[in-house]
Amino acid sequence: MPKPRNAVTRRPGPADTLSVRDGRLWVEERPASDLVEEFGSPLFVFSEAQLRGNLHRFRNAFGAEWPEGPVDVLPAFKANTLLELRRILSEEGAGADIYSPEELAGVLSTGVDRERVSVNGGGKSREHLRTCVAAGVRITVEDVDEIDLIQEVAAELGDVAKVRLRCKAAVPNLWRRTDFSQLSVPIDLGVQVYKSGIPREYLVDMGRRVFAMSNVELVGLHFHVGRHHPSLWFWEGLMTRYARLVGELSRAWDGWRPAELDIGGGMPSPRDPHNEEMARSEFLLTAAGYPLMVGARRLGEETYHRMMGRLVPALTGHRVRKEPPTIEELAATITSTLRRELTREGLDLQGMRLQLEPGRSLYGDTGIHLTRVKKVKRQSEPIPYAWVLLDTTYFFLAGGVLEHNRHPFVVADDVDGPASLAADLVGHSCFADQIVLGAHLPPVRTGDVIALLETGAYQESSASNFNALPRPASVLVSGTQARMVKRAETLADVYARDVVTEEARERVAAPGP
Ligand SMILES: *Cc1c(COP(=O)(O)O)cnc(C)c1O
Repeated sequence: MPKPRNAVTRRPGPADTLSVRDGRLWVEERPASDLVEEFGSPLFVFSEAQLRGNLHRFRNAFGAEWPEGPVDVLPAFKANTLLELRRILSEEGAGADIYSPEELAGVLSTGVDRERVSVNGGGKSREHLRTCVAAGVRITVEDVDEIDLIQEVAAELGDVAKVRLRCKAAVPNLWRRTDFSQLSVPIDLGVQVYKSGIPREYLVDMGRRVFAMSNVELVGLHFHVGRHHPSLWFWEGLMTRYARLVGELSRAWDGWRPAELDIGGGMPSPRDPHNEEMARSEFLLTAAGYPLMVGARRLGEETYHRMMGRLVPALTGHRVRKEPPTIEELAATITSTLRRELTREGLDLQGMRLQLEPGRSLYGDTGIHLTRVKKVKRQSEPIPYAWVLLDTTYFFLAGGVLEHNRHPFVVADDVDGPASLAADLVGHSCFADQIVLGAHLPPVRTGDVIALLETGAYQESSASNFNALPRPASVLVSGTQARMVKRAETLADVYARDVVTEEARERVAAPGP
């Protein structure tokens, strides 16, 4: 018998801690809906085994394919800033990719291996750089004049700062459409428009200046452009152009070679929700169809609305997504491309340290978001429509909204039920708050729990308080145990930073005559 296909089922991997048992969704050894009973709704839930398993899987896959030197995994902290999850990664010896001074403070508090912390970001302040040098972390240089400031600060501290240059390469070979836009724009243009990375025209000179500095050591190169495309084709093309740039720099710098070669992140998450909210064919459908939709008003309101009613399911419908490559497939493609191209460029790879900074691909499937149904609402006129109103909001999934995510979802206690209800899953803020447009799900009632999957990366870390809604708690499941790792906000938290003077308060309390 073929296994039933639902949003949870996927190509079997070494670690998948979500399972369906008797129609119920389980996270490790806990039924998901029980967690809502215990900790409340909405709720972010994470799996410790999934987190550790994903890290091991990255290490093993890349370690096996890169015998030339050590492999470091530096998970992108911004994807998930929960300190308890980060502590587990630090305990496992993982490094970290961080951006802000505040993120640096966060990862340092977890006992991370400082030699494996990469501090990214443009416009770093003197104070921040001082902390970096004193902490002994790697500084990934983003600005042309940053190296001068690092030299000054390191000299003051009597230390040597270890830096890498964050490169920007041209990738005209990547002609497919970037997933970072709902418009049809080639990846190459997407990469060029992105602010990060030092433009190639400055790199050669910067390197020469660093070599002449007494308190700065260039230990490697860094390259990150993000998740433009989930395919192996993308990675082969990207690594080819990166390797060529490395070769160019190596020749310009008298045969210098990077001791650390950082390839950044951007690998897809297993149930990859990125830019799936509106398939591109649908974009074309609306762009091309808009004049027709508007023009149809001439046929009279009734006909116009009847046409719209028929069109809506086509505009909001699902398409069956292709499974992205596995970590093992990515490791094989990335390392073989680097090996081929760097060797062609004349570089000796022996002992070269390969570093990767997975964000979404490391955290994505470690987390789900649980929410209860508040109401099922319908209309039949002028066009038929239905909504499942949830007790959460897309403001709690803000990172995903910005990336046009379409999260797979299941009804937690009826995973394999007949998908007879067509409705939008919407949040309870006063915005349109469309979480999943055109969902098909088993009939649900008030109180039922829905699980939005693949919310482990960028969601909890980007949640905001629109409508003064307090942000939800996060729970970490480990086997049969579940413990809170971040409490829900309280009403007091929501207004904690507001400043109302005592005088103004008194005036309200005692209105004048
Ligand atoms: C955001 C970021 C990452 C992680 O990107 P993902 O697409 O989540 O893998 C890695 N490195 C740097 C420098 C980043 O800014």
